[in-house]
Amino acid sequence: MSLTLFDTTLRDGTQREGVSLTAEDKARIARELDSLGIDYIEAGFPASNPKDLEFFEGFDDSSLHHAKLVAFTRARRPKGRTEDDPAVTLLPSLSAPVACIVAKSWKLHVEKVLRTTQEENLESVRDTVAYLAGAGKEVIFDAEHYFDGFRDDPGYSLAVLRAAAEAGATTLVLCDTNGGTLPTELKAIVARTVREFPDVEVGIHTHNDSGCGVANALVAVEAGATHVQGTVNGIGERCGNCDLVTTIANLQLKMGLKVMDDEELRRLTEVSNYVSELMNLTPDTHRPFVGRSAFAHKGGLHVDGISKDPATYEHVAPEAVGNVRRTPVGELSGKNSIRTKAEELGIEAGDATQILGAIKQREYEGYHYEAADASLALLIGRTMGEDSPLFELETFRIISEKRAGGETTTEATIKLSVGGQRVISTAEGNGPVNALDQALRKAIGPHYPELKEIQLSNYKVRILDEHRATAATTRVLIDSTDGKHMWGAVGVSENIIEASWQALVDGLEYGVSGTKKE
Ligand SMILES: [Zn+2]
Repeated sequence: MSLTLFDTTLRDGTQREGVSLTAEDKARIARELDSLGIDYIEAGFPASNPKDLEFFEGFDDSSLHHAKLVAFTRARRPKGRTEDDPAVTLLPSLSAPVACIVAKSWKLHVEKVLRTTQEENLESVRDTVAYLAGAGKEVIFDAEHYFDGFRDDPGYSLAVLRAAAEAGATTLVLCDTNGGTLPTELKAIVARTVREFPDVEVGIHTHNDSGCGVANALVAVEAGATHVQGTVNGIGERCGNCDLVTTIANLQLKMGLKVMDDEELRRLTEVSNYVSELMNLTPDTHRPFVGRSAFAHKGGLHVDGISKDPATYEHVAPEAVGNVRRTPVGELSGKNSIRTKAEELGIEAGDATQILGAIKQREYEGYHYEAADASLALLIGRTMGEDSPLFELETFRIISEKRAGGETTTEATIKLSVGGQRVISTAEGNGPVNALDQALRKAIGPHYPELKEIQLSNYKVRILDEHRATAATTRVLIDSTDGKHMWGAVGVSENIIEASWQALVDGLEYGVSGTKKE
């Protein structure tokens, strides 16, 4: 059986609150989806907004290697003439070879929302499909609220599909628009519908309101659907659409249905992250298959099992979807995780018991090493007696001044010894951590030219009240980058400046030692 994949990230996905894409963003995502081997890319509703129209008019769809570009529209208005409905007549003027037409397939909507007769709705479906098929478009028909409609009156929902098929639609897509249908019922309705239309492709479009978006798409395929619609990372209105990323991985790796080349499947993680980035959404690290934590093993027993045979705690191989196995170190870790981690970091672990003791003590104080590889590597090194600090601190002082009606300025002064010299340096910054960073770089920069390459890329603060309720402890995480690699460092103190200082110094020390190693 061959399955076709239809991505609607650029149309249904943009219904998600807070998401807005420019025509250029859409073009970049479309190229990415094409390189993944997606068959259809639905890129927008050109009659509904000028930004989508700009995309369809400007995008050269002949540049796509595999995918066909799809323009979305609705069936013509009841009682009107198709030729007079601009939402429909716009499509023949666009180069997109495929039209996806949505129409009502639930009596309730026909009567209450469209306020028209059942027959007039069928007429509108026939006219619109025939018009666009006649204009040379491949027509995919989305039957809105199909499952709710079928529950209410199967005869009418099937009549809507028949009208579309007879007028020339090549794919009939059953939409669980409200996302409330459960897999057992959905599967039965798909099976029944597939039997009614042996010669037309039947597709599935699900939403995740019951948490069954992906499950529903999978059972629909089991019931004979051969066309699957969804969005990257399940991005969409309310609780989202069927997550095409998870669906693809399940279809190919679990159900043995080849939807793309193995090489393309290995790009799944990258594409998932890329789309999140472009949509300015923080990627959920716990996404199935492609999340950063999807193959992260923390418990000591698990890490031990994984080191003997990955199948003990992994349902698929991370490499199959382009992900990687990780062993974050936390208080649940055993000695084995420490050795594995040290190896990952390129350090000789030596006495793992002693290192584990040091980590547990620090975690008790509020440190957290899962996102702080740099501090962990330094801690392992220090516990092993290897410590090469960049400088010796004498004092630092920070002054923040707020003038009435004006801005706040911050100045840091630092006294330290570096390379046998005593240095005093002062710098201004837009805040205390920035001023401290500037003053420190000024003081030690001449001794470590590599510092110029290292930038702070992220600064996160969390207040911990795990130990003492009255005096809150602050944990600071600082990410640094040299443009090629990224590493995290952690600091903990009751004083936010002190916590920031620890993370800042660890981040720089690790960066300098790392650069030296290369
Ligand atoms: Zn939808």
